[in-house]
Amino acid sequence: MKIKSAEFVMSNSNVTNAPKDHIPEYAFIGRSNVGKSSLINMLMDRKKLAKTSGTPGKTQLINHFKVNDEWFLVDLPGYGYAKVSKKKRTIFQYFIENYFKEREQLVCAFVLVDSRHDPQKIDLDFMRFLGENQIPFAIIFTKADKLPSSKLNKQILSYKRKLLEHWESLPVNFLTSSSSKLGRDEVLDFIDSVNKD
Ligand code: GDP
Repeated sequence: MKIKSAEFVMSNSNVTNAPKDHIPEYAFIGRSNVGKSSLINMLMDRKKLAKTSGTPGKTQLINHFKVNDEWFLVDLPGYGYAKVSKKKRTIFQYFIENYFKEREQLVCAFVLVDSRHDPQKIDLDFMRFLGENQIPFAIIFTKADKLPSSKLNKQILSYKRKLLEHWESLPVNFLTSSSSKLGRDEVLDFIDSVNKD
């Protein structure tokens, strides 16, 4: 897919105020600092579309972008930032859960995980939540350039093996790097193919 246009539409803390257009929507979510903003900017080929936050956990809103006038890209807040208070975390969970439960346009959620790390409980819990609510999701492994390829392959294999302890089959998954643009075509072509279904 060629990116012809990518525009910021609006930010919300409540899904009921999100854009009403009935066009396919894809949401990006993951732990703070996983590389979500960098990935969105890389996919869209824009330097500063999504704000790479110096302070993790700062962007606590549902951000809608319209791409090619055809689909929404949604940048969701990062989860699991230790310095956010318990009360804030509960509010956060509530509005994110609501987003996933209420948003009819949502076609697929991309759950971002750092390709250097073993599966984290918070990510597995989140994937379970998506599964329980019948929300299709794909996994995006980020920062692939940070490991030498032999280590990277081993790490991804071990991650997938652990996923299979929780899931009967592997979710669709992509290996990406925002620095080298690895995985860009694959993620965009996947969105394109789902849009055309
Ligand atoms: P977010 O909090 O999930 O939006 O994460 P950011 O996109 O702000 O990235 C967090 C940090 O990881 C920043 O210092 C980025 O420069 C760095 N980073 C993100 N993606 C990559 C990548 O693919 N490769 C490398 N080497 N660094 C990355």
